[in-house]
Order: sequence, then C-alpha cells, then structure tokens
Amino acid sequence: MSGISLKHITKQFSNTIALSNVSLEIPQGSIYGLLGPNGAGKTTCIRIITQILHADTGSIELFEKPLTLNDVQIMGYLPEERGLYKNMFVGEQIMYFASLKGMSNNDAKKECTTWLQKFEIEHWKHKKASELSKGMQQKIQFICSVIHKPQVLILDEPFSGFDPINAEHIKQEILELKKQGATIVLSTHNMNSVEELCDSIALIHKSHKILEGTVSHIQSQYAKNSYRISFNGYYDSFLATLTTSYKLVEQTKTNDITTITIELTEDIASNALLKHVMTFGNIIEFKQLIPSMNEIFIHAVQNSSTL
Ligand code: ADP
Repeated sequence: MSGISLKHITKQFSNTIALSNVSLEIPQGSIYGLLGPNGAGKTTCIRIITQILHADTGSIELFEKPLTLNDVQIMGYLPEERGLYKNMFVGEQIMYFASLKGMSNNDAKKECTTWLQKFEIEHWKHKKASELSKGMQQKIQFICSVIHKPQVLILDEPFSGFDPINAEHIKQEILELKKQGATIVLSTHNMNSVEELCDSIALIHKSHKILEGTVSHIQSQYAKNSYRISFNGYYDSFLATLTTSYKLVEQTKTNDITTITIELTEDIASNALLKHVMTFGNIIEFKQLIPSMNEIFIHAVQNSSTL
C-alpha cells in the first residue's frame, strides 16, 4: 500500500526553484531515504509533507487519501535544526511535545517513562536542556518526535552529533518503529545508514528527482559487470579466453592464490563466468561487486550535472 505519495510537486522561493515537478512514492511501513547534495530540495520536500510549507503546484496523498491539516497529528518530525527549550526540564519538555500531538497526560507520562528507561536516562528528567550535551539533547528530541507513536516519522539527519554507540541505539529504535508499522522518511548524508536501514530511496539533485527505487534494485542497476575472483590456477589463460573485453582493475598474488578484480564491458551471466573460470583452477572466492550507495550517489549526481 502507498504510504506517502507526492505528485508533481513544484516549489519556488523568489528566484530559486527548490523542487521541480517532483513525484515520490513512499511505501507504507517502510524506511525511505531522501537523499541529495546540500541545497537539492530535501528540506523543502520534508516541510511540504509536514505542511510547514505549501507546494506551488502538485498534490500529496497520505495512505491513499488527500493529505489534510489533521494528518500532522499522526506525524513525528525530527528537524535538522534542533531546538529544545533551554530552560525547560527534560520531563516537562517531552510532556509538552506529547500534549501538542494530542496525547492525554496519563499516556504521555507512561510513554515518557518508557522512553527514558529505554535510553537509561531517567535521571535526566529533572535536568534542564541547557545542562545536556548536544548528543544528550538529541536523544531527548528524538523522544519528543516519537512519543505519540506517529504513523509517519520524518527524521532529518538523526545520527548527527551521536557517538557510534548511541547512533547504533537510535538505529535499532528506528528499526523497531518500522516493525511496529511506522512509515519512515530518513534524510541523511550517511550512506552507510542508508544501506543498513532504507528499503528504498529517492535522490534529489538541483530540485529534480534523478533516481528512485528500492536500494537493492538501484544497486543491481548500477552494478557494473565487476567481479572479484580468487583462485589457484592460470589466471592469464582465463583472461585470454574471455569472450568479452575487460579491464583488469586489480591483481594480487599471495602464495599460489591469485586475486583479480575485473570489469567486463558486456553482460555475461555470472554462472557462465564462474563455469568458465573453474576450468582454469580451484576457486577460493567468486564475487560480483555491488556498488555502495556512496558510489551510486556520487555517480548519479556527477552524471546529471547538466541539469
Ligand atoms: P536541502 O535540504 O536539500 O539542503 P533545501 O530544501 O533546504 O535543500 O533548499 C533547496 C533550495 O531552496 C536551496 O537553493 C535553498 O537556498 C532554497 N531555499 C530553501 N528554503 C528557502 C527559503 N525559505 N527562502 C529562499 N530560498 C530557500
């Protein structure tokens, strides 16, 4: 089922076009990465979904119905520009955000305690935000954005400011929220977290969507015919008998084992290639190399620089 569907969204600020006819299909109950270089239009897109801004043209559907102002109540938003009330106590702050989302006092208290316990920070409840480090404030802001169990959760750079242990903690919580059915939009420059968390992504560049799809489909689309093969045998004879031209990217030899990385210029079924190489020696490792999201991001952006 469709979660959030943006149809032909355009937004212009005086002379700057922030979004040009952008359509996105965000599946319900999945984690969707909203990616792009600085200034691409991601924040504008998020602000239009959260109705902080209105699009000039286009429409948005949420769970297959036109988006309404009331839908803000079932959304959670962690903005990139963090902002807690410096002089408010942590507990009060969380309760305040919960009340804005329409939670009863009792439910909010219960959830507040659950989250503070989950992060093992119950003792922060009576601290002021100004007494907390950036990372600690970030945890509180994360709690504020999820306290009401939002059906739609929008996280803008949720890992910035966290040490690796806390980043992992947040990552696990995001996966748990997905398991509970939330539709999650994640905007980040951290491509490792995209690979670990996202089911699908859109890449926005200079206000245009230049790529969209599931992470696995995009990776297989971008997979050059690159292979890493380690074997004990006659690699030069193997290369000489290849029926397609190739680029030898790397070659190392340790004892009797040769490892080569090759890029083929034509599609060859990996099984056929494996069969062929097997006739020249004993295979230790045979691997098709899948490009990282980082490589795909750079490649896609650089190749659309004519936009
Ligand atoms: P991103 O989040 O991908 O970095 P933004 O959506 O913030 O990109 O910005 C897209 C473009 O729109 C940029 O050129 C930015 O300068 C411009 N922009 C964003 N918000 C405003 C605004 N309120 N007024 C004028 N220009 C804006």
